[in-house]
Amino acid sequence: MNIDMIKEYKELSLFLLKTLQGSLSAEQGSGKVMGSLYESLQSAANASQIKRIHKQVKEILLKESPVDVNRLLLTIQRLKKDLLTQSNVENDMRTLIEEFKTLLNMALHQIEGISLQGEESRELFLQCREELGEIITPEGMHRYVEKFRRLFSLNIFIEDETGRECDELKKIISILADSISGLLLSSGAFDSGLEICVERLQHARTLNEMQEIRELLLQQTQTLQLRTRQMVVDVQQAREQVSDANKKIEALKVQMEKVKQEIIIDPLTRVYNRRAYDAKIKQELMGYQRYGRPTALLFIDIDHFKQINDSYGHRTGDGVLRILSEVMKKEIREIDVLARYGGEEFALILPHTAYAQALEVAERIRQKVENSRFTFKGKPFSVTVSLGVGTLQENDTLESYVERVDQALYQAKDGGRNRVVGEAAAA
Ligand code: GH3
Ligand code: MG
Ligand code: MG
Repeated sequence: MNIDMIKEYKELSLFLLKTLQGSLSAEQGSGKVMGSLYESLQSAANASQIKRIHKQVKEILLKESPVDVNRLLLTIQRLKKDLLTQSNVENDMRTLIEEFKTLLNMALHQIEGISLQGEESRELFLQCREELGEIITPEGMHRYVEKFRRLFSLNIFIEDETGRECDELKKIISILADSISGLLLSSGAFDSGLEICVERLQHARTLNEMQEIRELLLQQTQTLQLRTRQMVVDVQQAREQVSDANKKIEALKVQMEKVKQEIIIDPLTRVYNRRAYDAKIKQELMGYQRYGRPTALLFIDIDHFKQINDSYGHRTGDGVLRILSEVMKKEIREIDVLARYGGEEFALILPHTAYAQALEVAERIRQKVENSRFTFKGKPFSVTVSLGVGTLQENDTLESYVERVDQALYQAKDGGRNRVVGEAAAA
């Protein structure tokens, strides 16, 4: 409680006490005590002394007339309240002004960026900032608020313009950011920097902020461009590698196919070799045993081949082997298997073929060979073959089957060569 207030309060108390004294008889004890209390109150120097005197007065009055005292107490309380309210008005006003100043200061801070952009608003803003500290009275406050309001209305105009600009920019940047992030996502390299851009964009309000975001986005875009360029190079390289690999695979496939062929083909005559014959004849045996599928086998042996070698040389002999293979191939079907059995001997497997047809094929081959013309150093010579023919029969093993056909061939040789002998005739 300040001095002025104590003074004020003391005066009021004295005034009240005086009034009370008048209502109490001076002769009565209470009246006497009141008189001395009045004196003490006059000389009281601080709030606690006044309080103590008040307490004593209250006690006396309670003894004398409770009803009156209560009324009096109410009056005192009301007065006290009024007194306090009076002094608080000023206090409140000061606090209010201070609070208001804080608010204004915050508001100034808020609009600083935008205010400094316009010439008029800039000047007004600087004035406002300077004058804010000088406000002490409500009148001063009132004047200041007028000025501030002008600054504010100027800024609203600027804000509106910038706001529209911002919105436009926001839209454009959003689209940009979206497409960039989409690209980055698809390349599996989403950058958190971009995420931050998008996040900041949602809350951006001023042109300055927008400019910062734009810069950030630019950086991101450049990074992306570099990445994309690198990606294009990488993809191109990968493509070339894949293409190379594919070529290699293709080459390998061809090579493998060749190897596979080599395994079953006789290199001199290009007909099947003994390995292929072995596999195929076993297949035929199984086919016959399981499904009763007929199959025929021919053994074809060149007659007096030793003499050909002896007369025209081994190389001519090789040539004869090659040409005869070609001649025979022409006489057979796709599914038939012509194989070089060994040396100058061939085997011909004829699937789905009965004995009679097999004999016909054999005879046709014999004739074609016989009619083929060979020359050695301009001198013509001919070659003949002997053929044994057999078909797979019930209870046959591979050995018995082969043996029977071999027997037929032997008979053809024995019978004078250049002829076909079937198993029926050989038996
Ligand atoms: P035959 O009518 O009784 O079958 O008489 P041949 O002379 O044909 O039979 P032989 O078994 O006596 O002789 C086969 C000859 O075939 C002997 C061998 O030098 C020859 N010969 C085997 N393989 C090859 C070959 O790859 N190239 C050449 N040029 N000759 C071969
Ligand atoms: Mg021979
Ligand atoms: Mg032979």
